Amino acid sequence: MNISVIGTGYVGLVTGACFAEFGINVTCVDKDASKIAMLENGVIPIFEPGLEEIVRRQRANGRLSFTTDVRSAIQNSLVVFIAVPTPPRDDGSTDLSYIDTVARTIGEHINGYKVVVTKSTVPVGTAVRVRGIIEQAMTESDREQFRCSVASNPEFLREGSAVGDFLRPDRIVVGADDEEAIAILRDLYNPLYLIEVPFVMTNVATAELIKYASNAFLATKITFINEIANLCEAVEADVHVVARAMGLDGRISSKFLHAGPGYGGSCFPKDTQSLAHFSRQMGVEQRVVAAVVEANEEQRRLMVHKISDMVDGLEGKTIGVLGLSFKPNTDDVRDSPAVEIIQQLQASGASIRCFDPEGMENAKHMLSDVTFCNDAYDTATGSHALVLATEWNEFRMLDLDRVKAELAEPVMVDLRNIYDPREMRAKGFRYSGVGR
Ligand code: NAD
Repeated sequence: MNISVIGTGYVGLVTGACFAEFGINVTCVDKDASKIAMLENGVIPIFEPGLEEIVRRQRANGRLSFTTDVRSAIQNSLVVFIAVPTPPRDDGSTDLSYIDTVARTIGEHINGYKVVVTKSTVPVGTAVRVRGIIEQAMTESDREQFRCSVASNPEFLREGSAVGDFLRPDRIVVGADDEEAIAILRDLYNPLYLIEVPFVMTNVATAELIKYASNAFLATKITFINEIANLCEAVEADVHVVARAMGLDGRISSKFLHAGPGYGGSCFPKDTQSLAHFSRQMGVEQRVVAAVVEANEEQRRLMVHKISDMVDGLEGKTIGVLGLSFKPNTDDVRDSPAVEIIQQLQASGASIRCFDPEGMENAKHMLSDVTFCNDAYDTATGSHALVLATEWNEFRMLDLDRVKAELAEPVMVDLRNIYDPREMRAKGFRYSGVGR
């Protein structure tokens, strides 16, 4: 089977490469010619563990190719995945202009039956909208001879473990309103069916909503434990122990119960806002989600206050920040708590030294007037506090004596709770975690 994936970013590239692993012929399309040129030269434009090897292997055996020629990709494919951005607008709604453009292009170039699949995270009703745009863009004679199905197949991969998540997912969700599309998508995912990955086959609206409900629920869990952590600080309880004991209850589970600076990244912030927005448009308030969005923004501000308290005010201070990506094992800094916290620290008069193993190139487009350092120790040098903002493995076993010797003041603000408060204090640090 020939398929194409339009949009070769974090989701599109992983999707394309992994479908090629399943034995399918995949064309990945992007409008960014420099990205396609990099991929054609064997350079992976993002940091995603395990991806480079698969891309190399599948390019070598001819199953995976890259192009900017969207027309021939569509015309040679039975299934066309859409994996373009769906960024937020200022009012929280989703900007569907990238999706609309692709839909129009598909309508203009359609040359036979196609299954068009939205892999991007899109509000309920988008598949219907896509179908309308495709049909409108088709010529009269194309409309008479060609048909297309529009299906929803939301993606649940996590950056940093995207390849494993795609090849061994918890579930596959497919929303489609016709049997032919369902059969083709079942076929496409057959290798996962064979390893007994659960399939949820449903209508398009339900599939579209499953993605938002899942992300909003995870964001709620994170926010819940953050607010419990804030209470722990007020009553001298330890959130680490609270979360552990809660997580031992099988109904709750221990995942996503780690207190910290608030959720971030390219998905949770925009998806929670989008859900609240399109639900409101339907006349249904999402009060929990709206509160989660507000509490998450407040959590970032609280972290800045915490840092300020630890150094007796930020004006004129130098703060070292370890970690810029929104989580470890990715170079993605979109809506990263670390980046926003740095901007707030700067607004309060602090100078910033910072380091991230993979995220510094991307962060350079978002941060100005910061000193990018070579490693954790360089970051600590001359700083009045070291802030641990992202829990990369290499920050878990720092030589603390060396860190302390480099710092101007022995202050560590551990926003990911990776160090033990008692041990840190015993080593002579003024230490603050989150909720401990
Ligand atoms: P991305 O920004 O990394 O990649 C999108 C790509 O689409 C870019 O390379 C861009 O150049 C390309 N593009 C835009 N318009 C195009 C067009 N008309 N033709 C061809 N290419 C075009 O985005 P992403 O992180 O991969 O996210 C894509 C979608 O998947 C979003 O809706 C997102 O919410 C969703 N999603 C993301 C993740 C994640 O972890 N990143 C996980 C699940 C779902």
